Amino acid sequence: MSLHIPFDNTFARLAPHFYSPQLPEPVKAPHLIALNQDLARMLQIAPGEIPEMAEVFAGNVLAQGAEPLAQAYAGHQFGNFNPQLGDGRALLLGEVLGQDGKRYDIQLKGAGRTPYSRQGDGRAWLGPVLREYVVSEAMHALGIPTTRALAAVTTGETVWREGGMPGAILTRVAASHLRVGTFQLFAARGQTEALKQLTDYAIARHYPDAKGPMGLLRAVRDAQAGLIAAWMSVGFIHGVMNTDNCSISGETIDYGPCAFLDEYHPEQVFSSIDRMGRYAYANQPSIAVWNLAQLATALIQQLEDPQDGVEEATAIIHAMPSLIEVEWLRLFRRKIGLVTVDSGDLDLISDLLERMAENQADFTNTFRALSGGNARAEFTDPAAFDAWHTIWKQRQQAEQDSKAVMRATNPCFIPRNHRIEEMIAAAVANDFSPFHQLSKILAHPYEEQPDAVAYRQPPKPDEVVRATFCGT
Ligand code: AMP
Ligand code: MG
Repeated sequence: MSLHIPFDNTFARLAPHFYSPQLPEPVKAPHLIALNQDLARMLQIAPGEIPEMAEVFAGNVLAQGAEPLAQAYAGHQFGNFNPQLGDGRALLLGEVLGQDGKRYDIQLKGAGRTPYSRQGDGRAWLGPVLREYVVSEAMHALGIPTTRALAAVTTGETVWREGGMPGAILTRVAASHLRVGTFQLFAARGQTEALKQLTDYAIARHYPDAKGPMGLLRAVRDAQAGLIAAWMSVGFIHGVMNTDNCSISGETIDYGPCAFLDEYHPEQVFSSIDRMGRYAYANQPSIAVWNLAQLATALIQQLEDPQDGVEEATAIIHAMPSLIEVEWLRLFRRKIGLVTVDSGDLDLISDLLERMAENQADFTNTFRALSGGNARAEFTDPAAFDAWHTIWKQRQQAEQDSKAVMRATNPCFIPRNHRIEEMIAAAVANDFSPFHQLSKILAHPYEEQPDAVAYRQPPKPDEVVRATFCGT
């Protein structure tokens, strides 16, 4: 059987200023680490023999119908505008239609230099590739919109970072790779026609019911609001919410220095490059609003008189914080087993979170234990939990399916940082069993999986990961 990817490309039909055609740079000795069978099936991809898949997902052999290109974009990085970014180490091979009728990008990440590489080598090393594979698939299993991982290969080449690291390539799947930064590029250049084309393309592809630039803005706002609330509900910290990493489709994209909370603390930051805590856990809602404002600024440039769009765009942006809050409250209500609405719920949830922060409670395990387990043991001072518990129990009397709701909302398993690090270290030593094991467990995060209890444990003091890195 031969690998077949049923490409049906649309982005490559757009005008050349949106991208640069670019072939992948061949690698020495590709080796397939993983193919995501379920995702391949969903994308109507027929898997081939393993050596053939290794060649294709390493970029050595171009699958029939692929039209590789590097996408152009700009973006605000930590608040500073960079007028020229673009795919510096990624190539869009093309698009396929999934069994769900939706269109998906297939992209190689780490496939070599492009016109947007600047000082970079266009490559990726094994650590970030496996991290993105595991964490993006875990996010999908948690039910959170995300890009996905179709395949991972090693290249047989060395990539130079702090030292020599094994090279690898990830095949990433996304609803599209359009970013806020894609719009910013053409707005900054004053290319109004390109901006209009891009707007039409994004509407047709993602939000066919949206009307015009302001309709698109509203749709992106709604998608991003839901996404950020979902991140907060599982303790996810993206780590680099730059506008070039903010997807128009509303998917989580770019798993660089991302991490999940172990102990709950609203100010938690893991990313080694986020020195000011701009992208700290609790800042994510306001950063999402800031990013939307940048999209609005770009979109209105295509209006005859941009001033005409300011009022409407402002109203759209101003509505975003409360949209995030409403969804956040709905999710956190569910996390404590509440489906009905009471005016005291926000205080009840906030009170729990405050007590958790003061008592170094593990975010995931505390919530999961509410539906059966010993939540008070998560608190350095268990009495702090008891006081909350009494009030919660009274409130819960109004509920029917409290336990079932909590079990469907509070995962047992998240990709804990120390497990990710352990998995990467093993892979670098050529042992991929922790990668496969972790992937298997995280595919069913809401199931108890008694054999996997060790993966529910927070890190021991010497296992705590304090900093994560972009891995570029
Ligand atoms: P990121 O921080 O991963 O979102 O990347 C920011 C920018 O740097 C994007 O334009 C990337 O394509 C580019 N980039 C990151 N790593 C590399 C690399 N190894 N080689 C070339 N460009 C890179
Ligand atoms: Mg990026």
